[in-house]
Amino acid sequence: MGEDLDRFKEHIPLLEYLQRHHWRGHRAGTGPEFVGLCPLHPETRPSFYVNTSKNLFYCHGCGRGGDLIRFVELFQHLSFRQSVAHLQQVLAALARSRSVSQLLEHAAAFYQLELHRHPEAAQYLQRRGLHDSTLLQELGLGYALGGNLRRHLSGLGYSLDQLLEVGLITPQGRDTFCRRVIFPCREPDGQIVNLYGRSIGTAFPHRLLPRSKGSLFAWHSVQHFSLVILVEGLFDLAVLWQAGFRNTTCAIGTHLSSTHLAQLYDPPGRTVYIAFDRDDNQAGQRAAHRLALHLKSLGFPVHIVHFPQGQDPNSYFVAGAAAADFNACLEQAEPL
Ligand SMILES: [Zn+2]
Repeated sequence: MGEDLDRFKEHIPLLEYLQRHHWRGHRAGTGPEFVGLCPLHPETRPSFYVNTSKNLFYCHGCGRGGDLIRFVELFQHLSFRQSVAHLQQVLAALARSRSVSQLLEHAAAFYQLELHRHPEAAQYLQRRGLHDSTLLQELGLGYALGGNLRRHLSGLGYSLDQLLEVGLITPQGRDTFCRRVIFPCREPDGQIVNLYGRSIGTAFPHRLLPRSKGSLFAWHSVQHFSLVILVEGLFDLAVLWQAGFRNTTCAIGTHLSSTHLAQLYDPPGRTVYIAFDRDDNQAGQRAAHRLALHLKSLGFPVHIVHFPQGQDPNSYFVAGAAAADFNACLEQAEPL
């Protein structure tokens, strides 16, 4: 019950509830207060105040006030228990009307809170060379333990069908992500389009939801640079950002979609440094060369960055490289 009440407070703003019931209020001054006619009794002069930051109401006419539950009790003439049931329905209706990006936003926020609750996640990030907590926060990094997301999102009113459709749970009803570090993938307008999960265990390392990857990663902030560094993986991106190379972006893999190419090309003339993995089997080098030729044919100035054998940007930094070393790599990059 207490959990329910916290959820209502967090996800059903009192003002929104009132407005859905046709209450008209206007701002009272510059603070978080709104004022309008009291919906609990007839009156001609506004005496009903709503504090949107505290989510509380008070009427100077009838002297009644309180939180959302109290308002529902008075307005709908329901008992406390009935009011809770009523708000559960309101929450479910809200969840049905929410978009996929809002659902992914809720999932990402949950995973983000979880990151600090499970030492194995923090240890994994340390091993991958990530220690800047501000950066982790900025990237919205989270941790999927597995087995607890479905319950959390159901509690917010989402139906199993919605979770299944987006791919957050499997057809067997289990969480899709289990023991994975989660990166939310956002469009330049801030909406989340997908979640990338990197296994910290023995499962297949990479996993995205069965949806479009969307834009180049973090394109919102990278698009302002006239020289960009393109890496294969999000851990490569994270360590480079941590080292100060904020002009790094990533297509999650070595293939660029037409959306990605269009983004790089806007505006034309952008220089691209390809910093893919240097694999022992040459896969990364071949992919880099293929992409470089393609970009060159489209008119991009292109350079290929070379790492020591068997390394990628992430492992290069974990092995002790500093920003100056990577700068040297950029200077020695092979122009096409
Ligand atoms: Zn009143």
